[in-house]
Amino acid sequence: MNSDDNIQNDSVVDAFGGSVTDYDRLMNEFGIRPIDEVLGLLPKSKRHYYMNRNIMFGHTSLEPVIESINKKKPFAIMTGIKPSSAEYHIGNLITCNEVIYFQKLGGKVYFCIADIESYADGRLPLDQAEQNAIENVADLIALGLNLDKAYVYRQSHQMDVMRLGYLLSSHATHNMMKSIYGEHRLGVYNAAFIQVADILLPQLHNGPLPTVTPIGADQAPHARLSHDFVRKKFFQDTYKFMLPGFTFHKLIQGLDGSDKMAKRNPMSVLTLFESNKSLKKKIMNAFTGGRTTVEEQRELGGQPKICRIFDLYRYFFQSDEKKLKEIEGSCRKGELLCGEDKKNLLGIIQEFMQAHEKKRQDALPKAREVVLERLDG
Ligand code: SF4
Repeated sequence: MNSDDNIQNDSVVDAFGGSVTDYDRLMNEFGIRPIDEVLGLLPKSKRHYYMNRNIMFGHTSLEPVIESINKKKPFAIMTGIKPSSAEYHIGNLITCNEVIYFQKLGGKVYFCIADIESYADGRLPLDQAEQNAIENVADLIALGLNLDKAYVYRQSHQMDVMRLGYLLSSHATHNMMKSIYGEHRLGVYNAAFIQVADILLPQLHNGPLPTVTPIGADQAPHARLSHDFVRKKFFQDTYKFMLPGFTFHKLIQGLDGSDKMAKRNPMSVLTLFESNKSLKKKIMNAFTGGRTTVEEQRELGGQPKICRIFDLYRYFFQSDEKKLKEIEGSCRKGELLCGEDKKNLLGIIQEFMQAHEKKRQDALPKAREVVLERLDG
């Protein structure tokens, strides 16, 4: 939903258009547990680098999923996209990487094309949503999604989700919704019921099943609402749902130094469709932790902690811990200068995008077939 629908919201996060600045408060308010608490249950070789870097910083009810991974038992991964654009935002890549990671560990992916939400949000016609969805699914295939272990569906065609959403709504009160989301219009709460129904779809289809939904920290209210509903006697008696598991990741900040990547601020955001010219402009103008002069940087070193170039390495473009530490170390010592580092990263991203575009083009016919076939059914 767009933030115009927000009437008044004093919560630490707005799940329908906000950003997060206070992660400790978010964890307290929404009962998010530190990811470190469960990492010991997962062999080191099976951990995602997001876990080691505190990008995937928290979880709720992840233990049954880890047990399924370790014992090679079934589990599901729930995810989706609002098909409001054909262009994947690099922030979407975080969730994609997490989904593909869990799929490679043995889970089946449920991928929701949230066309109802994109209609409610921006009045995007359903046929346009379908076209965007094909492009989005092609991106996912190019990134490594295995369609043989995935169920792709469109919200507006998935009647069991609609029915469950209705049942959920009839067990909600205004106070319950307000305490989780803050004050919003009824249509916004309605979108939340549908999202919870999406999250529970793998269990609607299979019965009680460990599930994980990887989400950004700003989506924490949906996780809390899911748990509140699942604990209700009616849903326990009727469906015997397990508490759905969630992992939470930190949101990547704007390239220009702003708090978040936002489409209305083009210099803050990267898409997977940047032209070479635009990519170069954005990277070379990105906010860094560099000093005012070369001499100062040589003397004091750079500040990778606040640097958006370093963020791009951490999130996407350097998965090797040793190599990342080398970049960080030479930055801090003043050996690496920002201009040189930006050029290095630019080369890496250009190479990634060229390879991705080739894989995406190859994947388009399959994406079209899968989306249309499964939507017509
Ligand atoms: S040297 Fe690299 S990591 Fe360090 S502040 Fe500059 S751009 Fe950022």
